[in-house]
Amino acid sequence: MRLSPRHPRYRSLTTRVGLARAHRTGLVVAEGLIAHGRGEAFDYLLGERTSPSARRAETAAAGWLRAARRPVVSVNGNVAALAAREVARIARALPRVAVEVNLFHRTPGRARAVAGALERAGVQEVLGVRPTARIAGLPSDRARVDRRGIYVADVCLVPLEDGDRAQALRRRGQKVISVDLNPLSRTSRTADLPIVDEVRRALGHIADDLERPARRSPARWAPFDAARALSDALETIDRRLNRAAARRPTRRPRA
Ligand code: ATP
Repeated sequence: MRLSPRHPRYRSLTTRVGLARAHRTGLVVAEGLIAHGRGEAFDYLLGERTSPSARRAETAAAGWLRAARRPVVSVNGNVAALAAREVARIARALPRVAVEVNLFHRTPGRARAVAGALERAGVQEVLGVRPTARIAGLPSDRARVDRRGIYVADVCLVPLEDGDRAQALRRRGQKVISVDLNPLSRTSRTADLPIVDEVRRALGHIADDLERPARRSPARWAPFDAARALSDALETIDRRLNRAAARRPTRRPRA
């Protein structure tokens, strides 16, 4: 199918084509396509761009990753299909960051496919293909992790997460940075630092920040107001909906 770059939904449509292809190769599961649809709907409501508040969250996230002793980026099939390059940029800019495959729908073949996509994008070492530890109290395959990665991480960047694991990580005292377009999801509401933005944009901005020299001492944790970040996103949606509603054409009385 040929898409015109002039089509108003060009970007979103080409992303869908890429995800459908990734589904056919086994990288993305059917459930991942549906989850993407939920994300797309929120992105539509948010104006398909990074808000100033989300951009501040991304800068704070880069600071937290820098300040961490054992930072980890957790990668599932959708993240590998949408943003492998951005993950590789983060890993290059901050070599201390571990990159780990973590899947809700895990098969050995899918784990290898995710790792392959990351390696082709330039990630040197990918953890989690053969899990070596388990996070207690988490029933899904998300519990299966690498002893050198998520298991011992102090800061976990978890794009497109599910709420259960975000809660489990927090219970273990690990700081959770989420990337989720839905400000109402359990993940966003659980995270210490929720980023309400599209994953490719969010990880790209974090990489931009990490590629610049640090302005403050990397040992310093900047406080982050998570509740404020979520209400900013809801206000953005509210403002846009109100504006759209105000533009509603008034019905002409019938002649
Ligand atoms: P929770 O368990 O946190 O309440 P959920 O049941 O909505 O979440 P999933 O279906 O696992 O969770 O998650 C997909 C989440 O990822 C959705 O909240 C969706 O908004 C978000 N999402 C999907 N695609 C993207 C994307 N490209 N960028 C950012 N977020 C996305």
